[in-house]
Amino acid sequence: MKKAVEIKDLNFGYGETLNLKDVSFSIKKGDFVSIIGPNGSGKSTLLKNIASILRPKDGLIKIDNKDIENYNSKDLAKKMALVPQNTNIAYDFSVFDVVLMGRSPYLSRFQRERDIDYKKTKEALRLTDTLHLSERNINYISGGERQRVIVARALAQDTDILLLDEPTSHLDINHQIEILSLLKKLNKEKDMTIILVLHDLNLASRFSDKIVLVNEGTILAKGIPEEVITYKNLEKVYNLDMVISTNVYTASPYIIPLESKRIYEKKRKKVHVISGGGSGVEVVSKLDKKGFKVSMGVINRGDSDWDIGKKLSLNMIEEMPFNGITEESFKENIKEINNSDIVILTSVPYGNGNIKNLEAAYEALKINKEVYLIDKYNEYEKFDFVKGNATKILKEMKKNGLRVYNDIDKLINDLN
Ligand code: ADP
Ligand code: MG
Repeated sequence: MKKAVEIKDLNFGYGETLNLKDVSFSIKKGDFVSIIGPNGSGKSTLLKNIASILRPKDGLIKIDNKDIENYNSKDLAKKMALVPQNTNIAYDFSVFDVVLMGRSPYLSRFQRERDIDYKKTKEALRLTDTLHLSERNINYISGGERQRVIVARALAQDTDILLLDEPTSHLDINHQIEILSLLKKLNKEKDMTIILVLHDLNLASRFSDKIVLVNEGTILAKGIPEEVITYKNLEKVYNLDMVISTNVYTASPYIIPLESKRIYEKKRKKVHVISGGGSGVEVVSKLDKKGFKVSMGVINRGDSDWDIGKKLSLNMIEEMPFNGITEESFKENIKEINNSDIVILTSVPYGNGNIKNLEAAYEALKINKEVYLIDKYNEYEKFDFVKGNATKILKEMKKNGLRVYNDIDKLINDLN
């Protein structure tokens, strides 16, 4: 296998901390490779290391089997061109002159451009659909047009390897496909090695022979699209719920994002349910179904409320069967309440074993949590087996903001 690029144990940092860690992979000559990964994961940094714009702390980079350190800049520029992520051109050059600059590695300092240089420039303009802009000022064309001009400049450089950092980010869908198709064509017909950073996973999947997935400065996965574009990999890196199907036209993996877990987690309200003896089953299952994040406690193992919690994989503060609530689990319960937005009590009989659950709910009120009691038949006073103590606490709680509902659906509706 002929390697266009070989990277071994690369470490790089802008400062003390490493922005790239133990990066190793190779790219076969003639491959079309996409580098994907979240914002800030190190894609541009990796590309700049390959392009020799940044120097690694340690490790090895070989271009065409030769250590990158052993190239002079002109020879490297004849092998490899880079389309950077953001291009600012400070001077008022014409589009034609900007593309012509791609020829500079082939010219000595004061040498005038030759016919071949004009020919390559025109060809590059034509390929990128920018020939008609030739005479325009580079600073007075649209972002998308400029992006194509910068690609043209890289093509004029006439290299075997092309590095591109998000070359489609300012392009409309037409020109996105056009640029990628052009790159694919150069890849197929001229055996050019294409290495590009893409943030559109579906485009990466569709056009690439290989994909490199970068996450927090390390390579999380590399291989053919089917190996890299997997639920497991993407869920881990993007924290996204998605469906991965197949693009019927190209047979490549196709991602349909569903919901960002990052936002979802944030907006989901957390409800702690204090129940027992089956009194929590209905409210817990309905809350869970509605998307609330539910926890339970303190609850005895084997209790029918405990069963539902297990079934739904809820976080539960547990006590052994028929055991009273210990000081320890009471504290755990308070901790869970602290992490919740809402506390819901069901009506259960209170005895010495579980009165601490009612005390915990009172604590919740005291720290300004919303606390609700579900009391279907207005019978909570009948459930006192601690000599009026439970009734007393409940009365206190009512005075201090405990809200009582007899209808579970209405309560859940009001929580939304
Ligand atoms: P990506 O291209 O994947 O969005 P970058 O390679 O641009 O990510 O950035 C990787 C990390 O390096 C980020 O944490 C970013 O903040 C940091 N970084 C990028 N450029 C610089 C710089 N010039 N100086 C210091 N830190 C930088
Ligand atoms: Mg970048």
